[in-house]
Amino acid sequence: MDCIFCKIINGEIPSSVVYEDDLVKVFLDINPTTNGDTLIVPKKHFKDFRDIDNETLTHIYQVINKLYPIYQEKLNCDGLTISHNTDYGQDIKHFHIHFIPRYKDDEVKHLSNKEILLDIDKVLNKLK
Ligand code: AMP
Ligand code: ZN
Repeated sequence: MDCIFCKIINGEIPSSVVYEDDLVKVFLDINPTTNGDTLIVPKKHFKDFRDIDNETLTHIYQVINKLYPIYQEKLNCDGLTISHNTDYGQDIKHFHIHFIPRYKDDEVKHLSNKEILLDIDKVLNKLK
């Protein structure tokens, strides 16, 4: 399969590895949003949250818990944003968690286009 993250996992493409075990490889994002912007990637190729298994997902959650205090200590981050894109917004179709250390005044903002936002009650009616 022509997957860039599979190639990183099997060592064909180099990466800045922060942590690795039997189930995941964790490396720095090549295009960081903040200092220490990191990707947590399962070694097995899953496309997105719809096909990853619970064991791997639980393990990733444990890795997040293990890494965050280390980033707090070593990078002095003040917070953490974790995210996962699916379909639109997901460039690499191999499941990965964005682990983004946050810093006071880092000015990272969630993207939103206020002009196309619906009233919250309208959204709720659509979802009910
Ligand atoms: P997404 O758009 O959610 O699929 O995120 C893909 C992420 O992978 C982006 O943040 C890219 O900067 C990152 N990325 C792409 N190629 C590499 C690479 N060779 N090494 C590290 N990160 C990469
Ligand atoms: Zn892959």
